[in-house]
Amino acid sequence: MMTVKSTCCYCGTGCGVEIDVDHGQVLAVRGDPEHPANFGRLCTKGLTLAHTLHADSRLAEPRLRPGRLGPGQAVSWDVALDTVSERLAAIIAEHGPESVAFYLSGQMLTEDYYVYNKLARGLIGTPHVDTNSRLCMSSAVTGYKLALGADAPPCSYEDFDHADCVLIAGSNMAYAHPVLFRRLEAARAANPKMKLIVVDPRRTDTAASADLHLAIQPGADVALFNGMLHALIWDDRLDRDFINAHTEGFAELRHAVREYTPKMAADICGISEEALLTAARWFGEAGAVLSLWCMGLNQSAHGSDKNLALINLHLATGQIGRPGAGPFSLTGQPNAMGGREVGGLATALSGHRDPANPQHRAEVAAIWGVDALPATPGKTAIPMFDAIAAGQIKALWIVCTNPAHSMPDANKVREALAACELVIVQDAYADTDSVAYADVLLPAAGWAEKDGTVTNSERRISRVRRAVAAPGSARADWDIGIDAARRLAARLGRGAHLFPYAGPDEVFAEHCLTTVGRDLDIGGLSYAVLEAEGPQQWPRPAGASQGAARLYTDHHFATDNGRARFHVARHHGVASPISARYPFHLLTGRLRDQWHGMSRSGRVPALFAHTQEAALSMNPGDMARRGLTDGELVRVSNSHGDWVLPVSSNDAMLSGQLFVPMHWSSAFVGSAGSNALTAAKIDRKSFQPELKHVAVRVDKI
Ligand code: SF4
Repeated sequence: MMTVKSTCCYCGTGCGVEIDVDHGQVLAVRGDPEHPANFGRLCTKGLTLAHTLHADSRLAEPRLRPGRLGPGQAVSWDVALDTVSERLAAIIAEHGPESVAFYLSGQMLTEDYYVYNKLARGLIGTPHVDTNSRLCMSSAVTGYKLALGADAPPCSYEDFDHADCVLIAGSNMAYAHPVLFRRLEAARAANPKMKLIVVDPRRTDTAASADLHLAIQPGADVALFNGMLHALIWDDRLDRDFINAHTEGFAELRHAVREYTPKMAADICGISEEALLTAARWFGEAGAVLSLWCMGLNQSAHGSDKNLALINLHLATGQIGRPGAGPFSLTGQPNAMGGREVGGLATALSGHRDPANPQHRAEVAAIWGVDALPATPGKTAIPMFDAIAAGQIKALWIVCTNPAHSMPDANKVREALAACELVIVQDAYADTDSVAYADVLLPAAGWAEKDGTVTNSERRISRVRRAVAAPGSARADWDIGIDAARRLAARLGRGAHLFPYAGPDEVFAEHCLTTVGRDLDIGGLSYAVLEAEGPQQWPRPAGASQGAARLYTDHHFATDNGRARFHVARHHGVASPISARYPFHLLTGRLRDQWHGMSRSGRVPALFAHTQEAALSMNPGDMARRGLTDGELVRVSNSHGDWVLPVSSNDAMLSGQLFVPMHWSSAFVGSAGSNALTAAKIDRKSFQPELKHVAVRVDKI
């Protein structure tokens, strides 16, 4: 038997694992006691990883699907990738490079992400590369860049141990980041004076543990944060020395928040003025304040403003760049951070560069050895599928994600996929919703079957290691991308030099090179360093003996003039307000033991012990008024679609609000689930859609 150290493939906590392997089979998975993200702890999902590897539904060989009918015809890799390169070359020749798009995933490894980004922008010349991280973290990216100058979460998990006040906003951390929540509980036990404030419309398990739960109305976060800032100004709890020395834009913000009196802000939020003032006082009095947030702020048509309004609180009180202090976004997916680092978003280039900046494009082009990168803006996720529906994008290559389930207004996305001339789906599983639309299916190696790296929420890069062989002829995503790129380069008659890699270590080495001199500089990292020293935080430039636990400790920010920037954010509410026709707020979110569309976690019977089936959570009074009883089937609907499911009485829900889990879709319930109902309304700065909320009606069947 041997033991292989790797990283859990579920959430952005990035827990280290030890995998016991015997005769090519994974026998057990346990927490790695040496990994600084989890010190041996795992949640139920991580603990059951060994049971996810042998599913019948694994895609084991490439398949061509003439007419998109049935499972298709099994073919060799040569036939599959020659078909891919031939059809892509023909589409590029007829319609131009921008008729090709890539839709990637925060579950890809950094090396995977790097290869597909280079294939798209460097070889094909299309800017249309986006990722499901657009649905996840792009508002946090925008908030950090606008306020602090770089897409860099400034904190570390060890800050939990130094905080006197923790504000969790829009995150059911007890379910979505369970190991981190345990760490926070331990920090509270060690520091009983620590105050925990949770902002969430629902009384989640996270909210139930708080010293103060602010059950705000959906979409009211900016009003809350502005009201708190108003109170902090009024009570003179600001760090004026910090504001004067290290920031700009405070006078304008101060003027703007004058109208957010605590009474007015509390009324918008639907909470008491006293509760808002208590939150502001705890924030202002604490020696160190840590804010943690996730999809409740990001998945909003005003997600960037929500991020900025929260960061404003930290800048106004000087709560950043010190132990226990800072605005700390929790990433949902295991490698959303790695994707951001290599430019896997349409709005980013390798090394945190900006595709709209000619100098940045030239720098990446020079490293890659190409004349130029595309200058036109790439389409982000929602416009990308709109362009597919409109016939502007003819070929879509989907890697490691399932947009037919996970995109908002999923029925429209399915129509776009049905109309697309060429759809390539590369996945470990053969039964996701998006597979139905594939012309070509490429089998990908999954967790424990491939090598690479991931970056977690605290900027820590960890190795993912191969422990067993992939089923059939499935291959690592980076390996498939390199092979396909070489074949396409031969057909295009250019770019033969672009993909010289013999393995993922060489891809990682080139990625490190692109970061030199940038905010995330990892010029001092390599597979050899990670092997010798274990997981490392960035930046770790050449010559450094370790990575940085904390950013901006000198209060010099990544903006042009080194000053952090306050931004005025105004309350706008939800994008789909309730009405007489659709009188309920529908909230969406995770369950404790499931992951995304359940393509992996749904194979493990033990993970259904906590919640067995999808149900609509509803306030008991609302149920009584409608004559509904527990378990009764209801139809939840709006203009986008509907979902028939049982209703469940839940006194954690406020009257007028409903909750459904995001995990179920066609494979389980015969519809697109929650995303049959959500609207494709996007934030104008981050382009992130409002997946967290939509207005609906509920009818008895
Ligand atoms: Fe995996 Fe996240 Fe659970 Fe850690 S907390 S074991 S990374 S799912």
